[in-house]
Amino acid sequence: MTTLRALAIAASLLLITTAAFGQSYFPVKTLGTQELWYSYCKKADGTCCVPYCLVDVDTGAYSLYNPGGNGHTVSGHSPGSGPASKMSISGNGSWTNTFSYINTGWTGQFWYYVRYGQRNTDNSFDARLAVGHPEYVRTCGVDTGGCSRADFGAGYTDIFWVEEKPEYIHVGATSRHENSNSYNHWMRSGPAYGIWGAAQDYLAAHPEQGKLALNDMSLPYGGLFDISGNWAASHWEHSNGKSVDVRANCAACGGLGQYSLPDNPTIHNEFLDYCRDRGATHPNTRLEFAGQSNQHIHCQWP
Ligand SMILES: [Zn+2]
Repeated sequence: MTTLRALAIAASLLLITTAAFGQSYFPVKTLGTQELWYSYCKKADGTCCVPYCLVDVDTGAYSLYNPGGNGHTVSGHSPGSGPASKMSISGNGSWTNTFSYINTGWTGQFWYYVRYGQRNTDNSFDARLAVGHPEYVRTCGVDTGGCSRADFGAGYTDIFWVEEKPEYIHVGATSRHENSNSYNHWMRSGPAYGIWGAAQDYLAAHPEQGKLALNDMSLPYGGLFDISGNWAASHWEHSNGKSVDVRANCAACGGLGQYSLPDNPTIHNEFLDYCRDRGATHPNTRLEFAGQSNQHIHCQWP
């Protein structure tokens, strides 16, 4: 079924819109999908449509790194190029961020497709860099100067907040992501139950452990998890709600830390097997950075 989204501008009334307020991820659109939109000029009484009015239509993003930018702190990341879902009149072939001087014809409506998450200049799709930004489609009246925006976000719509449980605490907050553990613990349901079950299994066998400490999962809508601050594809396995890092510190690299697994290869392998027993994949479920300060267990689901 095709969903229609309408954008209207007033032909006889100047609408003032700003980029600073009212920006929203919502509704969240599924990456790579497209929908049919239309833009039109309102009549003076607010109804559709003024025939043959001229409009400009463009797409853009409000901000890459503000707190609304999927938990990426403004100061924590070097600039990248903006994400922008693209438009096409035919729905395939040529995709663009701008239509200029479009005559709406006798129906007063200009129809086009918007493809969510498109952003590269060659129109190739990169989910890592396209997710979780407040975006908009804007229609401006060429003659009236009035503009109207409709907001949306692109991302994975099936990633959910994972709460702390009696079996584990959340760790891993950094200045790059708002110094908060509220942004880095989002997952799909299956993997979230997977790590919960693995934690229960491990604690049943090792009650002396007490709790575990879970580090990064994914950001709220998935996408780039820019732990390096260079807005390049890092931490990529944490982009789609299927992975979690479990604290398993290197004891000789600065101590174990609260609720770390013991620094013991036998224990590491045992925990990895509990993840696999709960559906995690071989061999992507593994000990990472062994013997280094950022040593941890990475459990990943298919
Ligand atoms: Zn990991």
